Amino acid sequence: MTSRLAGMRAIVTAGAQGIGRASVERFTAEGARVVALDIDAQALAELQESCGCETRVLDLTNAGAIAAFARDAGNVDVLFLCAGYVASGNILECQELDWCRSFDLNVTAMYRMIRALLPRMLERGRGSIITMSSVASSLRGVPNRFAYGTTKGAVIGLTKAIATDFVAKGIRCNAICPGTVETPSLVERMHATGNYENARAAWIARQPMGRLGKAAEIAELALYLASDESAFTTGQCHIVDGGWCT
Ligand code: NAD
Repeated sequence: MTSRLAGMRAIVTAGAQGIGRASVERFTAEGARVVALDIDAQALAELQESCGCETRVLDLTNAGAIAAFARDAGNVDVLFLCAGYVASGNILECQELDWCRSFDLNVTAMYRMIRALLPRMLERGRGSIITMSSVASSLRGVPNRFAYGTTKGAVIGLTKAIATDFVAKGIRCNAICPGTVETPSLVERMHATGNYENARAAWIARQPMGRLGKAAEIAELALYLASDESAFTTGQCHIVDGGWCT
C-alpha cells in the first residue's frame, strides 16, 4: 500500500459501481478513509466487505437526505461527485421527466452536496472537489445525448465558478471529462439496444484507440486530482477519452 492520500478523508458519490467504485478502491489503497455513497444498498455492502471503506445509502436526489448526511459528515478533504444519469435521445425525444431527472442527479445533487460540505472545508482551509462531467458536454456534441450533454456542460460551468470563488481559500475544484468507459451502466445500455454485440462494436468503432476506457483509468485521474500532487491545478476540465477530442 502506498499513501498518496494518507490522513485524508474522502467522500465519493455513486461509489457502489463503475468509476465511483474504482475510485473508492483506489483512494482506500492510497491511505484515505473513504465514505462511499450510493442508493444501491447491496452493492455498498459488498464494497464495504471487500475494501473496508465506510458506506452510506443516500439518494442524491433527496435534499433532506443530503442535509442529514452533511450534519454529521465530519471533516472532508476530498469530495468526488461522481453520480450521473445518461438520458438518450435528441431534444424532440427528450420528455420533461428525463430533462428534470438529468438535472436533478447530474447537477442539482452536486450543488446540494457542495453547499452542504464546503463550509467544513473552508473552516479548515483545504479541500479538493472533483466533479464528474464528460466529453459529451460543452467540449463536444455527441449524437442522442441532448439532456446528458446539457447537464455535463453545466457541470463544467459549476466547476469553474467554484474554483474561481474559492481559489484563495484553499479549495480546488476540477472536472473529469471521460470518453466512453466500460461500466455496468454502459453494458446495460448496450443490452438495451437489443443487439449487444452490434452495439458494443459500434461503441468501439468510434474510439480512436479502438477500445473502451476502463474505470480504473478514470480512477487514476481522480486520485491525482484528490492528492496534493495536483495542488497547483484548479478550475480545469481534465479530458481522459482515448483521443476522442484531439
Ligand atoms: P454507473 O452508471 O455504472 O453507476 C452509477 C452509480 O450511481 C450506481 O451505483 C447507482 O446505484 C448510483 N446512483 C444512481 N442514482 C443514484 C442516486 N439518486 N443517488 C445515489 N446514487 C445513485 O457509473 P459510471 O458509468 O461509472 O458513471 C459514473 C459517472 O461518470 C456519471 O456521472 C457518468 O455520467 C460519468 N461518465 C461516464 C462515462 C462512461 O462511459 N461510463 C463517460 C463519461 C462520463
